[in-house]
Amino acid sequence: MLDRRNELAAWDRDHFFHPSTHMGMHARGETPTRVIGGGEGVYITDVNGKTSLDAFAGLYCVNVGYGRQKIADAIAEQAKNLAYYHAYVGHGTEASITLAKMIIDRAPEGMSRVYFGLSGSDANETNIKLIWYYNNILGRPEKKKIISRWRGYHGSGVMTGSLTGLALFHNAFDLPRAPILHTEAPYFFRRPDRSMDEEQFSQYCADKLEETILAEGPETVAAFIGEPILGTGGIVPPPAGYWQKIQAVLDKYDILLVADEVVTGFGRLGTMFGSDHYGMKPALITIAKGLTSAYAPLSGTIVSDKVWEVLVKGSDELGAIGHGWTYSSHPICAAAGVANLELIDELGLVENAGSTGAYFRAELAKAVGDHRHVGEVRGDGLMAAIEFVEDRDDRAFFDPSKKIGPQVATALLERGVIGRAMPQGDILGFAPPLCLTKEEADIVVKATAEAVKAVLG
Ligand code: PMP
Repeated sequence: MLDRRNELAAWDRDHFFHPSTHMGMHARGETPTRVIGGGEGVYITDVNGKTSLDAFAGLYCVNVGYGRQKIADAIAEQAKNLAYYHAYVGHGTEASITLAKMIIDRAPEGMSRVYFGLSGSDANETNIKLIWYYNNILGRPEKKKIISRWRGYHGSGVMTGSLTGLALFHNAFDLPRAPILHTEAPYFFRRPDRSMDEEQFSQYCADKLEETILAEGPETVAAFIGEPILGTGGIVPPPAGYWQKIQAVLDKYDILLVADEVVTGFGRLGTMFGSDHYGMKPALITIAKGLTSAYAPLSGTIVSDKVWEVLVKGSDELGAIGHGWTYSSHPICAAAGVANLELIDELGLVENAGSTGAYFRAELAKAVGDHRHVGEVRGDGLMAAIEFVEDRDDRAFFDPSKKIGPQVATALLERGVIGRAMPQGDILGFAPPLCLTKEEADIVVKATAEAVKAVLG
């Protein structure tokens, strides 16, 4: 076994090009390789037999937890009966059609159709193409710009990496590309003027958006995209009134709202969709992760009636839509999706995300909220973050070279719990599986308090 583990570590360093990894350090063996062998409930186990409570659900995606027999059976059954058939020119499978119906049944009002992909990134690529197509069909080809937020995360492709508003994802890739623009992040903790209350800061963000739209020319701006609550950008809930004020600006200039619900879709905030949670009225919704709880890769764009009518007009004028993926609505992934959504209902996981989430965040705030290097404990539903600061009064950042966020995440892992050092700022994030119990939440909180103390005193 030891030989096998050494062999895997060597092959990994020599041949595996990992995403979001320091390439040189990994290849030189300066960062550890962790080979994960199994998972059960909220726990994963590596091949050395070390078990960790995964308080980030993989990458906020294993929402039903690991080791669910029902989903494994659905996948096996589908693979035996029909591993693949495409969905082009009107083809479907029982699983893909059923899943589309289940999604629309759960989606916010006014939603009509689901276009399936495999990743959050490709679903947002689909959104961009649909937005451009929509305005071409409506006879306004100049209305093409898409506004995103700094700190937003919408994927890693050329266009979706452009939508993403994090420097790490732009650096040395010649991104962002036109016609993508960025506006103010609704980051209340770091608002420009601390005398602003939440409503005032929301108005400030809406005013900034309107300024950009007017500067560019409203006739050139097609859409605005945002996650209901910022995820990878630091787990930042919107300040009070934010989405209402943004929506008013978008409506004024006939600009489509895209809600990127890759993280929030299917229960993470204690409601089926974040759009309902915050009163957003999107024209398009991006879904992925929680759709299958990552048991198989699957994403989708949920299209509203309003957009769908224009797309149909487009087909009547131009013929079949020229947009398709080989694996769109892959039957094995769709079968995983059906079983996963059934399981979420059977186990009451949306409700649990709301109630256990509130408990978890309150306990976390009690445990570390008063620490002299904790600037804020924030979140919503089963998403939480701790932002570390050098100084609580002026909210000064730590010197980034100290890597405080990663240090706390490492100390936490040493105590048996996985959190995530978010990529920009010293922010430790949590997004555990939606089946988390209060007892498991207590384990995460206790380990976090110990890890914070170990690193910051
Ligand atoms: N949108 C959001 C809000 C995300 O959090 C992510 C991934 N973390 C994506 C899109 C991209 O999804 P994927 O990595 O599956 O391409």
